[in-house]
Amino acid sequence: MPHATFEVFRLAMPLVRPFRTSKGEETVRDVLVARWTDADGSSGWAESAADAEPTYFPEYIDSVLLTVERVLLPRLAGERSLTVGRTRAAFADAPGNPLAKGLVETAVLDAQLRRADMSLVDFLGGARRPITVGVSVGIPDSIDTLVSWVAGYLSDGYRRVKLKIAPGWDLAPVRAVREAFGDDLPLQVDANQAYSPADVPLLRRLDDFGLLLLEQPFARHELLAHASLAAGHGTPVCLDESILSLDDAMTAIRLGAADVINIKPSRVGGYLTSRQIHDVCLANGVPVFCGGTLETAIGRAANLALATLPGFTLPGDISATSRYYAADIGASFELDDDGCLIAPTGPGCGVEVDEAAIEAFAVDRHTFPVG
Ligand code: MG
Repeated sequence: MPHATFEVFRLAMPLVRPFRTSKGEETVRDVLVARWTDADGSSGWAESAADAEPTYFPEYIDSVLLTVERVLLPRLAGERSLTVGRTRAAFADAPGNPLAKGLVETAVLDAQLRRADMSLVDFLGGARRPITVGVSVGIPDSIDTLVSWVAGYLSDGYRRVKLKIAPGWDLAPVRAVREAFGDDLPLQVDANQAYSPADVPLLRRLDDFGLLLLEQPFARHELLAHASLAAGHGTPVCLDESILSLDDAMTAIRLGAADVINIKPSRVGGYLTSRQIHDVCLANGVPVFCGGTLETAIGRAANLALATLPGFTLPGDISATSRYYAADIGASFELDDDGCLIAPTGPGCGVEVDEAAIEAFAVDRHTFPVG
């Protein structure tokens, strides 16, 4: 009998524009995608948000590959037609490693849904509705460049703008964008953990700009500092990097550390955990939005499916394909006239993966037999 297989492809995908945050700059996205193929031949795809280095997430591409090969796939030995539920149960005794687990779990789920001819939207229980999306703007070399970038994105149809901020690049760019585009532009900022609790007086000055939210000003573990800032009832505080699990989300809500939560499926271990976090947030009146990590078509489609759930009331960081890539590994996503994207409703994540494009972008690959 043939084995199931798990294939991973490391892709080098050129970005249309360098993307700089307080954590560094990317000009080529180093992307890990994976395909699970059951013994019966049905297969599914997934994308990881892991980076080449552990600068943003504690896990990174090499650690994900090692965890997948040595820890996770051996736990699936003997499985012939795997489901996402059995996968989660098999991984339950291995703590941590949400990126590695999420990559395997999501590929298995995609295969399961394609086999059953069911869309991820329907599996998650979402509504077939257009998703309002926003654009995340990296740190440019000058205020003038920032204003010209934002003008371009608004003319592209984006209805909400998120600015990356860092010490020395905060009040001035926000003021410039407000002055150029007015107080009605839905605007938010993301610090990617770049500030310390001693910076609270500076961060409070952002309250003057009517921002939708301030995302992750402090380090991942600084829940109490985030709670203290949120207690001031100024700009709503959003957590991103602090939330690696359902427990993290429940603790943050209990502490009052999160007025808003950014759910990134890859970061929390996949779409089932994402849905659980969504459900807890919805029950506690905490709005959520779907975060992004410069996804290709595979991750973008699945994130759109997640964002069809009712608690996703804020625009997601799920841009059109052209925001990041001139060429993708599946069909392009384009904004409609209302600045929305539509989640595919074909089986699984709904993307026909372009295997020729995978070949063209691949710089490394591994095939792991399972069982
Ligand atoms: Mg963020």
